[in-house]
Amino acid sequence: MTPIAKHLIGGEEKKAVLEVLNSGMLVQGPKVKEFEENFAKYIGTKYGIATNNGTTALHAALLASTINSGDEVITTPFTFIATANSILYCNAKPVFADIEPKSFNIDPEQVKEKITSKTKAVLIVHLYGQPCEMGAILDICEDHELKLVEDACQAHGAEYKGKKVGSFGDSGVFSFYPTKNMTTGEGGIITTNDKKIAEKARLIREHGSSAKYSHQILGYNYRMTDISAAIGIEQLKKLDAMNEKRIENAKLLTNGIEKIRGLGPPCVSPNVKHVFNQYTIRVIEGSVFPRDELSAKLNKKCIGTKIYYPLPTHKQKLYQNLGYMDKLPEAERAAKEVLSLPVHPAVSNDDIESIVSSLEAGS
Ligand SMILES: *Cc1c(COP(=O)(O)O)cnc(C)c1O
Repeated sequence: MTPIAKHLIGGEEKKAVLEVLNSGMLVQGPKVKEFEENFAKYIGTKYGIATNNGTTALHAALLASTINSGDEVITTPFTFIATANSILYCNAKPVFADIEPKSFNIDPEQVKEKITSKTKAVLIVHLYGQPCEMGAILDICEDHELKLVEDACQAHGAEYKGKKVGSFGDSGVFSFYPTKNMTTGEGGIITTNDKKIAEKARLIREHGSSAKYSHQILGYNYRMTDISAAIGIEQLKKLDAMNEKRIENAKLLTNGIEKIRGLGPPCVSPNVKHVFNQYTIRVIEGSVFPRDELSAKLNKKCIGTKIYYPLPTHKQKLYQNLGYMDKLPEAERAAKEVLSLPVHPAVSNDDIESIVSSLEAGS
């Protein structure tokens, strides 16, 4: 079986966890501090604030950027639900801007069109591990004085013009869920160069308190455990090598898939390092089998596949009930065409041959 995702936990992680269990601190202790420092240094930001998952990191990052009730935050509809939901948690309004068909990422031109007097921030997603068009996005945010939060939950180590994502915006957010480029079990982190945002995010993480039992603002319990942080410290050391293997696997997959009629391999934008959290193809017109049939054929041959994402956020029941009536043709078309194939570091060259030949047989 070649699963669609697989975490790689080795002896180093196991040893580090045992050390924590034998120590006196299980939560928000020295390992969390060390992980925060190491991760922030890796991304190239001054501060790192670890949390218990990517969703809470998004929530805390938006709150730390003072997103409030009545504010509008422009975001992509083609992502995991947590992105837009984190805006709802702040009682603010997600406003959806359509995606660019080539990268699947938010289209800067569409962002511009959605700006109103209530727009406070832009929440972008570096989907599948590919950085957004940062030049254009930074210009828009600067021209309109908008805050920028990067959802980099799928893009640990991805770069735009040699600079790591998570270091462009007022803050960046990462998830360490097992399917991501590196894991801590559950976990998340906020990266920022802004001291105020870092301090506020720390307050929010810890029930609004900087000293024990003195509560300044409404906060939450979003703390990371030292068990998770110890895993993260070891995973971070392996991240570049794991990403290189993803990139190599993606190249081999594209070499094989390019020639197959009706299949569109992923496009890598100029100026970026795409770290392939997902390798996502389009099954387009001219393909002999419809997307879902092709997917079923691969599954029968023990090749895991997944559709990220079958329904854009604005079409989800929750958002329909909130009255969203947007027509976002590119996101809606992508949801019908995309298919993700195994690309993670445990995928071997033999696996790739069998994926490609199964796709050939299927077309
Ligand atoms: C995984 C993910 C999240 C949420 O992270 P969790 O750790 O699962 O809460 C948010 N946004 C995107 C784009 C993700 O892929």
